[in-house]
Amino acid sequence: MAKIIDGKAIAAKIRSELTSEVKALAARNIQPGLAVVLVGEDPASKVYVSMKEKACHDVGIFSDEHKLPVTTGEAELLALIDRLNNDPRIHGILVQLPLPSQIDTEKVLEAISPKKDVDGFHPYNMGRLVTGKPLFQPCTPYGIMVMLKETGVELAGKEVVVVGRSNIVGKPVAFMCLQQNATVTICHSRTKDLAEKVRSADVLIAAVGKPEMIKGEWIKEGAVVIDVGVNRVGDKKLVGDVEFSSACRHASAITPVPGGVGPMTITMLLHNTVESAKRTGTGGLRGETGTGDQGPVQTLPDSRSPIPDP
Ligand code: NAP
Repeated sequence: MAKIIDGKAIAAKIRSELTSEVKALAARNIQPGLAVVLVGEDPASKVYVSMKEKACHDVGIFSDEHKLPVTTGEAELLALIDRLNNDPRIHGILVQLPLPSQIDTEKVLEAISPKKDVDGFHPYNMGRLVTGKPLFQPCTPYGIMVMLKETGVELAGKEVVVVGRSNIVGKPVAFMCLQQNATVTICHSRTKDLAEKVRSADVLIAAVGKPEMIKGEWIKEGAVVIDVGVNRVGDKKLVGDVEFSSACRHASAITPVPGGVGPMTITMLLHNTVESAKRTGTGGLRGETGTGDQGPVQTLPDSRSPIPDP
């Protein structure tokens, strides 16, 4: 039976380390600050935002909440982002998606200063990710890489198959694995013979959003399976993209849903915010106003320098 990769436990360990780092920053009069912007009343977005606020509070990050009505115009939102870009108390800006239809999402994401783009969605940061020198790594893929490292999975020379090519999960995680010298195949809805591609994977990363569409019998003996999918079936039950019970009979290690990748995503958001505050070296509620100068970029680790312990 596969070893279960416990995302909750890994996330708890990182959050405890972050709490200590935040305390050390407080001694230098710095408090990391994260601005969270929510436009409208989308129920799922409201839940995510309150989870992020609570997580910030738990580790001692200043959470600056901006809850705007669904009728908010694009200019008004851009003006808020401009203020946050110039606010020295704020080291990270997160705009909860989706935005209402009158607002151009791309324009808003591109308005966030790349130096405060803790979600890692700005084209500047995406471009830097592709070149292996990201300022911020997007949270879900970053969480996956940390989980692989914590599980002792060496990616160099391995066949990694990523199912899904979204900008927030599939594409960035594929580039991160490539950076670690894996041979990477990206599959999507037009891929022919998905089962065959999955069978070739030493490491399978599934980010599709279709309940248990990847069958356990497709998994190569001893493969490592990271299941990003979160799918609700029936009233309450959550399942991943991989048929968990049968995959456990073939994989050497697998993430559960829930309790796998999910808890890592917000944790890496906190990590990015703390990194941003450390890099800036000023600001926060306790600090003086800083110049916003940033130190050296956070380099995406390769096989010679493993992922830094967040
Ligand atoms: P997305 O933007 O909808 O992308 C889904 C991807 O799956 C697309 O690239 C799509 O291909 C591909 N796909 C769809 N049907 C397929 C099929 N039959 N065979 C192969 N590929 C197929 O989704 P996402 O935002 O990446 O999220 C994916 C899943 O991860 C969702 O369940 C989401 O809830 C979950 N998620 C979890 C977290 C977390 O923190 N736990 C974070 C983010 C996402 P095309 O490009 O060809 O359409």
